[in-house]
Amino acid sequence: MANIPFRDLRRQYQAMKPAVDGAIADVLARGRFILGERLEQFEAEFARYCGANYGVGVGSGTEALHLALVACGVGPGDEVISVSNTCVPTVSAISFAGATPAFVDIDPVTYTMEPGLIEDRITPRTRAIVPVHLYGQCADMDPILEIARRRGLRVIEDCAQAHGASYKGRMAGTMGDAGCYSFYPTKNLGAFGDAGIVVSSDRALAEKLRVLRNYGRTEGYAHPHKGFNSRLDELQAAILLAKLPHLKSWNDRRRQIVARYTQALTELGIVCPIEAPGRHHVYHLFVVRVADRASFQAAMHAHGVATWIHYPVPVHLLEAYSELSESGNNLPLTTSLASQVLSLPLYPELDDHEVDAVIAAAKRSL
Ligand SMILES: *Cc1c(COP(=O)(O)O)cnc(C)c1O
Repeated sequence: MANIPFRDLRRQYQAMKPAVDGAIADVLARGRFILGERLEQFEAEFARYCGANYGVGVGSGTEALHLALVACGVGPGDEVISVSNTCVPTVSAISFAGATPAFVDIDPVTYTMEPGLIEDRITPRTRAIVPVHLYGQCADMDPILEIARRRGLRVIEDCAQAHGASYKGRMAGTMGDAGCYSFYPTKNLGAFGDAGIVVSSDRALAEKLRVLRNYGRTEGYAHPHKGFNSRLDELQAAILLAKLPHLKSWNDRRRQIVARYTQALTELGIVCPIEAPGRHHVYHLFVVRVADRASFQAAMHAHGVATWIHYPVPVHLLEAYSELSESGNNLPLTTSLASQVLSLPLYPELDDHEVDAVIAAAKRSL
């Protein structure tokens, strides 16, 4: 029987232990832990990697979204258009900013925001659109940006699952006003704790974010804005600096595994992810659809392959958001997808034998 964990973060650390241990020891020896040189260096390097002018390190991906919304002037009484087919923090950030989420349904192939449904959800209170580059693939950004420009809305990209993804040659996070990344440990680029960044090419926006993340303080203890405490610390920045040069090869390996999975699993009638034209998918997750998910998942587990569901309940049907289920959030595709999706193990450290073992288990589980 196979023994394939859904993920195993120890493997990556073991493969690069000297570099990571050295980066940590260096921070400890320098004795500077918040807003130091490693953060500045990482902000510059990650922004350059994305092709944005500025990077502002923050405490998490949720905080990146929250602070970007606040910096764009979104607050109580405002509405923000997003999707319910996402990880809940996308929506937590909108709520935390004091705004009300208005959801649109998804494209049936990519499972990302369906641009054709956005205009119906715009009201005089709408201030921003938050598309989510779900599972590692960018949302269909051109029509989203066109609507936003025409209707005077800000666009804040949720790039938490899309490090290295691109759309028609443009990197995730560089198409809207701001791009928000998470470095939660399991993401394609992960810290050893919580961390996030906002990238932007808007200088005023980046400067406002720097103030907001640090109690609203500017140099000289002026406080132009009511702020927060949300900073990417030096230890995480040093670890991320050590890891960033590997991101491309890790993403390439994910794509290689996906090619192997897709070829074998499609023949079995399993619906595999599709890379839409013009998009570079980085496969944060490998999410398939099967006819009888419960029995397939149970059989996979019995054959020693761990799987997961991203996400079992759409946000608009969660108890915390019960007030939203009545207000025009009629989302048939999002709702039906939640009962079909299943994520198979996908991380760069999986070897070909393990990939073949997952495929063999799938054959026996149908
Ligand atoms: C992980 C994730 C976030 C939140 O990131 P944290 O760093 O955990 O706060 C937001 N949006 C999506 C789509 C995510 O997957």
